[in-house]
Amino acid sequence: MQTERSVAKHDEAEIRDVRRTTCCVVGGGPGGAVLSLLLARRGVDVTLLEAHPDFDREFRGDTIHPSVMEIMEQLGLADKLLELRHSEIRSATVQTDAGPFTPLTFSDLKTRYPYITMMPQKVFLKFITEEAKRYPNFRLVMEARVRDFVEEDGVIRGVRYEAEDGWHEVRAVLTVGADGRGSRVRKLAGFEPKKTSPPMDILWFKLAREPDDPEGALGRVGRGHIAILLDRFDYWQAGYVIPKGAYPKLRHEGIESLRRSFAALIPEFADRLDHLADWQQASLLSVESSRCPRWYRSGLLLIGDAAHVMSPVGGVGINYAIQDAVVAANVLAGPLKDSQARLIDLDTRYLAAVQRRRELPTRFIQALQTQIQHRVLANVLRSDQPLSPPRWLRLLTRVPLVRSVPARIFGLGLWPVRVKE
Ligand SMILES: Cc1cc2nc3c(=O)[nH]c(=O)nc-3n(C[C@H](O)[C@H](O)[C@H](O)COP(=O)(O)OP(=O)(O)OC[C@H]3O[C@@H](n4cnc5c(N)ncnc54)[C@H](O)[C@@H]3O)c2cc1C
Repeated sequence: MQTERSVAKHDEAEIRDVRRTTCCVVGGGPGGAVLSLLLARRGVDVTLLEAHPDFDREFRGDTIHPSVMEIMEQLGLADKLLELRHSEIRSATVQTDAGPFTPLTFSDLKTRYPYITMMPQKVFLKFITEEAKRYPNFRLVMEARVRDFVEEDGVIRGVRYEAEDGWHEVRAVLTVGADGRGSRVRKLAGFEPKKTSPPMDILWFKLAREPDDPEGALGRVGRGHIAILLDRFDYWQAGYVIPKGAYPKLRHEGIESLRRSFAALIPEFADRLDHLADWQQASLLSVESSRCPRWYRSGLLLIGDAAHVMSPVGGVGINYAIQDAVVAANVLAGPLKDSQARLIDLDTRYLAAVQRRRELPTRFIQALQTQIQHRVLANVLRSDQPLSPPRWLRLLTRVPLVRSVPARIFGLGLWPVRVKE
């Protein structure tokens, strides 16, 4: 006899409906949305559950790296995507006390998309889910907050979610947790990510944008501080990088101290800081980096931030989530269709294969990010001296072949993934 896990908050009578699908994806972020599209294209029944009523996210990543544009091209969607409002960053220059320093130059990359496409994440997610809606086997449910698993004999058979009108159940051959860094699915599965604590946090706030401002992104490094400005078309998303745990002290010193330090780094924006009058206008991002030792269980797979939270160094979080989605779809579409047709469980070997293929690139980039955090960023944040990169590094970044290496690693990845049709 099958045993089913009981749900503490509600009983069976409260479930308004039970729907069946082949793959239930929890979380409509970049990873979940792209996976749903890819599976739908391959003829797999997919239900995507998203907790929020829309895709609007304040202060989220808007960076689409060349690797993702290549994936979009393989799907025949790149040109259509680039018709939407966006800007392009071809290199990243940081102003240091010794002058400009350009550690990332994308224009040397051998790709049709040698730049970072800056596009609001909500626009990208809407684009992807609209594409998925063209397939009748795709279903999107917004405002669906997943609270619990449907579990039988240790196999995850779907989820229960809470919506405005009550509780619902989705039964599936495979449940995918793509629900981000605070993943509910990961907690329900009992997976504990191994965390490393990068030596910094970031305060994000908005600054007014003026018509003559440059496009793209700006970065400044000064004595003990790093400032970032990201172009959001209608405003600037300003980031102020502080040493980990320094927020209470900064707050104690008053908002004026934040305005002063930021203005010292980017003086041309000083007058726009006047509107920053309250700490409520700034959000603290506690920077973290983590990875789950295991990404799957019978009937369940984690992808994206749910499996591994990436440090903001190199802005690769979205790209890694999307690459996980591509590999998961490549590996699982066939076996899922087979399970659907023959009413059998999905063999966990396929889930293990997804983790195997994605874990190494994730480990590699996280190790690189850790080195950059500890050897470069921690020193910058600790220093009260004028800063400049060593001369050998400046010279190296002038050699085209060497100059393209960081952009290749962060922009295309060491193991680029391709969509299997
Ligand atoms: C402030 C900030 C700035 C960032 N900047 C960048 C950047 O510049 N470049 C970059 O590449 N990355 C950036 N990142 C990281 C990037 O946003 C993530 O790595 C990426 O979004 C991960 O994608 P994902 O699909 O795995 O998860 P997410 O994008 O986190 O999506 C998870 C989704 O699941 C939904 N969800 C959560 N719980 C439930 C539930 N119980 N039921 C149903 N749905 C649920 C959420 O509403 C969300 O839509 C930034 C992150 C933050 C916080």
